[in-house]
Amino acid sequence: MNFSSITDRLFIVTWTDLSPYETNVLVYHGSGINLIIDTFLGPSKMKQMLRLLPEPSSNTPYIIVNTHYHFDHVWGNSAFLSSVRISTSLCYQMMKRYFEADKTANLTYWEPNNQICLPNCLITSTLTFPEAGIEVFPSPGHSEDSCSVFFRQEGVLAVGDNLERPIPYLESQDWQKYLETLDHYASIQADKLIAGHGIVTQTDIETSKQYIYAWQTHQTEKYDAEPYKNIHRQNKLHLSAHGDGVVGHTCPTTPSPWAE
Ligand SMILES: [Zn+2]
Repeated sequence: MNFSSITDRLFIVTWTDLSPYETNVLVYHGSGINLIIDTFLGPSKMKQMLRLLPEPSSNTPYIIVNTHYHFDHVWGNSAFLSSVRISTSLCYQMMKRYFEADKTANLTYWEPNNQICLPNCLITSTLTFPEAGIEVFPSPGHSEDSCSVFFRQEGVLAVGDNLERPIPYLESQDWQKYLETLDHYASIQADKLIAGHGIVTQTDIETSKQYIYAWQTHQTEKYDAEPYKNIHRQNKLHLSAHGDGVVGHTCPTTPSPWAE
């Protein structure tokens, strides 16, 4: 794990436990509000992270945001049992529904004595912290339950797994909603984008739009070639196996096609 400062209030903490994927947790230390976006694999990781980070200027309890229900973004929630934990309503439902299946499928990452810790503050539209200039908003895409966070004063947009290089993993087939989310990202014109995994920039919004549009128009042949083919193959398998419904898909834990 290592951390770096994006601004004097925002820190990005990066983990390599799911190697070759890097997983990012974003921490905000503001005046009167402290916030953590996603909680990675477990409470001990979160406690280790907090020991490493600078002390927040106010001792307000951390508010947690879960960008979506996948295990590598929520299993550390139990480090924050007394916190407000924000997600979309759908994320709450999906965490509950798929918790046991996700645990069984990813048991190597489950910390002994960990427990399920659900979001307790559910959004269906934008939630704003006006003084801090922070907006949490639903952003269906990679999964239907996704939400994103815009730090207006910092110019930083946290997109969860909706953007990933070279193309995102897909579990929802609501292409229209995904495209709307990506258009919304573009309209925000954030100075910096922070993804759940790896590094992304504004160009990844357009790359992702092209990929989703290819699915929408049944013209995905280009993605059978490098550097896309491995993720695209997984997306095809996954979406054909699960049809149109919401499914208990997990985030990438298979070897990275582009790291070969
Ligand atoms: Zn993920």
